[in-house]
Amino acid sequence: MTASPPADITIRDIWEARRRIAPFVNETPLIPTTGLKDHTHADVYLKLENLHQIRAFKIRGAANKILSLTEEQRQRGVTTFSTGNHGLAVSYIARELGIRAVICVSNRVAPAKIEAIRSLGADIKFCGQGQDDAEKACYNLQDKEGLTVIKPFDDPHVIAGQGTIGLEIMAQLPRVDTVIIPLSGGGLLAGIALALKTSVPDIRIIGVSMEKSAVMHESLKAGKPIVLEEQDTLADSLLGGIGLNNRYTYPMVKAYIDQTILLPEDAIAAGMNYMLKTHKMIVEGAAATPIAAFISGKVSGDVRQAVGIITGSNVDLGVLFDIADSHN
Ligand SMILES: *Cc1c(COP(=O)(O)O)cnc(C)c1O
Repeated sequence: MTASPPADITIRDIWEARRRIAPFVNETPLIPTTGLKDHTHADVYLKLENLHQIRAFKIRGAANKILSLTEEQRQRGVTTFSTGNHGLAVSYIARELGIRAVICVSNRVAPAKIEAIRSLGADIKFCGQGQDDAEKACYNLQDKEGLTVIKPFDDPHVIAGQGTIGLEIMAQLPRVDTVIIPLSGGGLLAGIALALKTSVPDIRIIGVSMEKSAVMHESLKAGKPIVLEEQDTLADSLLGGIGLNNRYTYPMVKAYIDQTILLPEDAIAAGMNYMLKTHKMIVEGAAATPIAAFISGKVSGDVRQAVGIITGSNVDLGVLFDIADSHN
């Protein structure tokens, strides 16, 4: 689908982001993958966002946002309630810049995740029993102590930061016609689609989620942001709502997405196994969804030069090795 982007964010913001984050974020490789010939006639390439310092693309958006803060805001510090890749990204960039970061977590968050955040130098603030409590505590810190909340996706600077992936793809594979993007809150898809469709409007954008709790997909169907109950999934980085007051990513995803693919758990597992066996690479469930989309035969249209975004590799190795065993 082609549509004009919301006027708040333009491709110039993405070029600015690229200049801004360059000292902290390396360009990632784009590699061909040839093991999918049974499933597609297309040439498929993988954008390896698992190779960043924090092993996920979220470093791009977090860097662009934090580097855009005023000197006064930097002195007061930043906060977030994500314990996943966004929390790691905020902690990492804050440490690089010598800024205080406070990550609000509920008492239910796994110790391994807390340790990962702590090892990046962030302060942990325990608050309540669930994600909602952590979110409230985070906004309290903003109101009472003046820390800036760094949102995971629904923020123009975060979207523009993720969009720098699109600029790299255009340079690395100028004839790309289809990009397959793991989809949760939509910052990644909105940014990449803005970068690519502004340049070449007929590039196809495919969003991929798990069948369980695909909040963006169900919201688009309902015509407005909705809430779904979370269920366990291998693609845990794709869990979470899109925010009932979503301002940017919902309208952008709606304007840009050409196809949505929903995947069962066994397809996601097959995608993780493919990356491990074919490329000797550890990737998390969310990152394996573009591969899974091909393996399950759900990618439609005349696809010749496709790019799948391999979004991250923060996965429990026990989970991955169980999958590898069961695919032998
Ligand atoms: C955050 C994340 C996504 C989804 O990005 P959104 O901007 O929320 O759509 C996909 N994969 C991984 C590994 C992530 O951490």
